[in-house]
Amino acid sequence: MGNRAFAVLKKNRTDKCGDEVTGMDGLIPQKLRQLSRSESESRRAVPRHSNWVGSYASLATFVNECQSWLPEERYNKLMDAVDDLGTRSGGISGAVSYDTAHFEGHMDDFNSVMFGPTKSYTFVHRKLLCTDFDCLRVGKNLNMDASTIACAFACPFDLVGKYSIDNAVLVRWIATIASMYLDNPYHSWRHAYDVFQFSYFALSEGAGSRFFNYHDMLALMISAIAHDVGHTGTNNSFLVQTRSPLALTYNDRSPMENMHASVLFETLTKPGLNVLSGLSTDAYTKIRAKMIEAILATDMAHHFEFVDQLTARTSHTSTKPFLLNVKFGGEERENASRADRRMLLTAFLHTADLGHTLRPWDVHKNLVVLLEEEFFLQGDRQRDLEMNIMPMMDRTKDSVASSQAFFLEKLVRPLVEPFTLFLSVDAGIQMLANLEDNAKHWAKLLEKHLSLFQAYVFT
Ligand SMILES: [Zn+2]
Repeated sequence: MGNRAFAVLKKNRTDKCGDEVTGMDGLIPQKLRQLSRSESESRRAVPRHSNWVGSYASLATFVNECQSWLPEERYNKLMDAVDDLGTRSGGISGAVSYDTAHFEGHMDDFNSVMFGPTKSYTFVHRKLLCTDFDCLRVGKNLNMDASTIACAFACPFDLVGKYSIDNAVLVRWIATIASMYLDNPYHSWRHAYDVFQFSYFALSEGAGSRFFNYHDMLALMISAIAHDVGHTGTNNSFLVQTRSPLALTYNDRSPMENMHASVLFETLTKPGLNVLSGLSTDAYTKIRAKMIEAILATDMAHHFEFVDQLTARTSHTSTKPFLLNVKFGGEERENASRADRRMLLTAFLHTADLGHTLRPWDVHKNLVVLLEEEFFLQGDRQRDLEMNIMPMMDRTKDSVASSQAFFLEKLVRPLVEPFTLFLSVDAGIQMLANLEDNAKHWAKLLEKHLSLFQAYVFT
């Protein structure tokens, strides 16, 4: 199955770009050579900073991680100082900042927790946790992107240590996956980076990690990176109608998403790329199931069914609350929360996939322009093949832009409202405010220009 998926990927790449493609077998050695040159870069020293600003939740989660290796008395002092900051900031989602005086007497411990060799929090914070993240600013240097993203696996959750992940393998795998994204206007490596950043932000700064164990977080972060790998720039309906090799391979059932998951796991079988080699057979089997489920659920065909499921579950939290701090609660707590965690993993990846709708207008509108162009390109191909064209894919008729306000209110909001219950109050408020602001912008444009406007003209 996997080999066939690669053959299909290679074919589509040739079809779309019209140039010679080396395929997976050619890409990997080429990537390996490039990456071996950049390994030293990925281990570069991380600068120390004397102050830090972020949410209390992420700071507390981060310091909590050092409990296993820091002597108890020193750990307690550190946590007391962090709690003191939390009290002053007014709760779990409040913004805190510290200066060196606050940690006087245990500054060395604090620095080693925050900025130790595998805890390059400042670097990651600056690169990945900025609130105005714009994926159009990344994607120019895949090795650099891979190095940055790899740092996120080390902090604030030490997934690298917990699952014995080799940093060089991780960087190499991310860069390889990045190189397998096609150069589509929207479904490119930049979109994958965007979805990864959103997922990581939601877990750390957004305090979503409270509902997951480490295994779930690893599954989410790996899935986000590869969730659209090899995307052909067309939708499933097009693949089915044109009887494409992907539709034939997967019997018309979410052919695109099935291919993404298949390609992800296929890369792990290649030498030097298995980021999950440190997992036991049992842990690997479980993470594979979680990741496949979450990636397949990114097919919009399942959207309404999933939103109903999430809404129904969140409406019963008074009688059956979601369990918190699962990762510290032992096997019993993990078993009790299993079904909820699986559903939330899907919710986090699916929302992250639509995450650009929750970003500021200046970021969101540019991504809609790219999505619109990708739809138009499919429409152009359908016109050439004398197929029916959906109005929003027909550049002579309508556009994505004219239906954005409806899309944001009727499709995205019903998912985001229950989703934000699992984030810090501040993160949830900000996302919903952005969503509302974006919907208003599109509604205003629609009112002014009626339905015959295209995003690229008016944004
Ligand atoms: Zn996607």
